[in-house]
Amino acid sequence: MNLVFLGPPGSGKGTQAERLAEKQSLPHIAVGDLLREEVRKNSETGQRIKAVMEAGNLVPDEVTITLTCSRITQPDAQKGFILDGFPRNTVQAEALDKRLKEENKMLNRVVYFDISEEQIVNRLSGRRSCKKCGAVYHLQFNPPKNENVCDKCGGELYQRADDAENAIRTRFAVYRQQTQPLIDRYKREKILVNVEAGKDIKEVFAELLLAIQYGS
Ligand code: ADP
Ligand code: ADP
Ligand code: ZN
Repeated sequence: MNLVFLGPPGSGKGTQAERLAEKQSLPHIAVGDLLREEVRKNSETGQRIKAVMEAGNLVPDEVTITLTCSRITQPDAQKGFILDGFPRNTVQAEALDKRLKEENKMLNRVVYFDISEEQIVNRLSGRRSCKKCGAVYHLQFNPPKNENVCDKCGGELYQRADDAENAIRTRFAVYRQQTQPLIDRYKREKILVNVEAGKDIKEVFAELLLAIQYGS
């Protein structure tokens, strides 16, 4: 199964991808995590993209396309993958198609996380992420057992710079302008499935399992 998770920031893509990856033993490829890792390492790429990410804008296509295309050809992605947060615009979607074609592969489904903007603001402002392993929590909806400590690895939790109010607004605008048009593209290709992402985590997961199995 080659899957893409598409939806606005905060719609729950990462949370659901994590669960599905575990259940189906597929790699969860979170492009935002790959980029944050570059920033953390302070690599040349990291230095270039830090400010862009903090402001909530998209980093240059050439960076995400190179990272993603090389990640999906790794051995662990041969039996399938969950691509979370890529593609985010038409250029990226075309690059992905081209790469998959070269490898005689295709996307099986694109899951669209359908949710209202009001809910998203609540989710993003309460999001906390683990410094060490990237696991995602929510102060109210998915709190860690011990305050500010990751259940999985004991790492410290922090609030992402781009989860501040200004950056959230920019990310919405970018999403609407650049990413939303992809919904129609994948609808036309008849691989888009819808998930009602505004429900609680367990309900969304149940719907996700049905959607990838049977469509929606
Ligand atoms: P969220 O799911 O909350 O939107 P991500 O972790 O997926 O956050 O992405 C965080 C940031 O990383 C984005 O705001 C953007 O700056 C950058 N980014 C992630 N994926 C892409 C992409 N496909 N193209 C360009 N920039 C990206
Ligand atoms: P995305 O990857 O789409 O940006 P995340 O998975 O990081 O979204 O979720 C954003 C925030 O909302 C996180 O704090 C997460 O714990 C929380 N969250 C995710 N799914 C749900 C849900 N179904 N109900 C309530 N909160 C959720
Ligand atoms: Zn952790």
